[in-house]
Amino acid sequence: MAEAGNDVRTILAGHPERSGRLAGKVAIVTGAGSGIGAETARLFDREGAFVVLAGDRPEDIAAVAAELSGEAVAVPADISDPHQVARLVDEAHWQFGRVDVLVNNAGIVLSADILSTEPEQWDRVFAVNVRGTYLCIRAVLPGMLAQGSGSIVNIASVAGHIGLHRRAAYSASKGAISALTRQVAVEYAGSGVRCNAICPGTIDTPMVAQAISLAPDPEAFRAELHARTPIGRIGVPRDIANAALFLASDESSFVTGTEVFVDGGLVAR
Ligand code: NAP
Repeated sequence: MAEAGNDVRTILAGHPERSGRLAGKVAIVTGAGSGIGAETARLFDREGAFVVLAGDRPEDIAAVAAELSGEAVAVPADISDPHQVARLVDEAHWQFGRVDVLVNNAGIVLSADILSTEPEQWDRVFAVNVRGTYLCIRAVLPGMLAQGSGSIVNIASVAGHIGLHRRAAYSASKGAISALTRQVAVEYAGSGVRCNAICPGTIDTPMVAQAISLAPDPEAFRAELHARTPIGRIGVPRDIANAALFLASDESSFVTGTEVFVDGGLVAR
């Protein structure tokens, strides 16, 4: 947290005025070094937010931050570690005096059915996807409650809603994020803090590229991913960033506890 007497207006006065759909909002985006998180950071920056990019590879988040307006900061953090998460949120408060938006995007996938999932692998998926989401929400909430406003956007998945092959731990972890989203939304609805989730379908990112490369027939698997999506293509990171922008902004001020499916119709079929 910012030091007592370190007035928010004083801190933000040191930064230029920003314009856009997130003008002047301070947004933490986790997993901002690649894929959906990097695209969300770029869009939020263009829409006037002060973006704090978090990720476990310092060079990746620094490279994305270097593309942005100069008002963005990169803060290395492994979101499964409470001390690193506390430092991340402290740094955001130190730099900008507040946190208005948290995008819980960092996550890992494990391509394995339940029989081939080792307990240590299960625990790691839950440590990053579920514990990491919980830790980040827990760290930003006191500031959001004190200021009486905030928007939390959790990146869940269609995998939390439909059965997919070889996604035992991942699907369970994403279902937990959906449940936590509703719980946080209801708990703090009267305090000005909103919490929503986005459920992406298949999105063309390094995570999916890796899953494709591990398939027995990568090209056939890629074609299958396109074909199983009713819209006829897999998504791009900007599809998810656009939904995150709406949920982060005041345009969604009456929206809490819901999930936005950005999946090309996958779950509707
Ligand atoms: P990605 O490119 O692999 O992005 C995930 C990011 O999270 C990476 O930058 C990764 O950094 C970071 N990360 C992983 N563990 C972390 C940790 N412990 N602490 C901090 N950062 C960590 O994949 P993506 O597709 O953009 O995924 C973003 C989110 O969307 C994930 O939550 C994923 O489950 C969700 N999602 C994706 C899809 C899809 O089809 N792509 C579908 C549904 C949901 P390192 O690589 O350096 O570890």
